[in-house]
Amino acid sequence: MFRRSKHFIAAFAVFASASMAFAADHHAEPAAVVGPDAALAKLQAGNARYVAKSVSEGKATAKARAATAQSQHPFAIIVGCADSRTSPEIVFDQNLGDLFVIRTAGNLVDDYALGSIEYAVEHLGARLIVVLGHERCGAVKAAVASGSAPGHVGSIVKEIRPAVNAVSKDAGDVLVNAVNENIYRVAQKISKKASLGELSSQVRVARAVYDLDSGKVEWLH
Ligand SMILES: [Zn+2]
Repeated sequence: MFRRSKHFIAAFAVFASASMAFAADHHAEPAAVVGPDAALAKLQAGNARYVAKSVSEGKATAKARAATAQSQHPFAIIVGCADSRTSPEIVFDQNLGDLFVIRTAGNLVDDYALGSIEYAVEHLGARLIVVLGHERCGAVKAAVASGSAPGHVGSIVKEIRPAVNAVSKDAGDVLVNAVNENIYRVAQKISKKASLGELSSQVRVARAVYDLDSGKVEWLH
């Protein structure tokens, strides 16, 4: 059974603050912090635009490039799969500077990803973290098929395999269930391990799954 919280957005627990030294990209306090609810609404509206349009056009990329050349204030962090069909800037219809994106096969997080999340929260002002999985994920499919794989793909399979095992006796499609369980576990890992200090109470983690056919992002409850 896919474990779920009644609240698909879970507030972080408080952790000790990590001192960070990214002075080169740190421009004091973010100009305008977008709260998690407003950030979620922007993503939902963006995905609706993406689904509704057959061609993406009219995006002011040069203007956005100029506006963000000296500093960035992304309103959301997306932890997504590296799958070429799931680009967050496209599926959420966003522009340069809008999203802070971390992508690995299977939308996993390691220490580098957690550090990136901490940096985006503390120095760039992001307050919403979205773990974005997707249907028919090849990384999860590999973990369903086997507990091991050659090379570094084996590390990915090993990380996802507990999610597969957790849903192995559940009714329904094992790949669908494993994708959802993996999203849940990654969100839990971020909530437990990201060191956000006093900002933790302002940050929320949301879970979502992308439909490769319709383009819709389903928010998981
Ligand atoms: Zn994938």
